[in-house]
Amino acid sequence: MQDPFANALTHYNPQNCSHPFHEGDLPPLFGNNGYALSAVLTDRFSAEEIIGRTVIIHSGKDDFTSQPGGNAGEKIACGQIWAVSGRQ
Ligand SMILES: [Zn+2]
Repeated sequence: MQDPFANALTHYNPQNCSHPFHEGDLPPLFGNNGYALSAVLTDRFSAEEIIGRTVIIHSGKDDFTSQPGGNAGEKIACGQIWAVSGRQ
């Protein structure tokens, strides 16, 4: 089956680190009856760096070991990060 999220590419990784130390690696998302909410405070990247990039949700658990993406299962959803207040 073709990957419908292929254009999202790989984890944001400007420092060429291994997973789970990519700048774009985010904490696990815990769902409840099909819903989840996540807020992240990080100094790994600035808001300006990630505008236009994509957030991907995987179906499984990140094992925090496997390369390059933690063997977290298929990609099930995505969204693009947009600027707030018209900043780009
Ligand atoms: Zn990663």
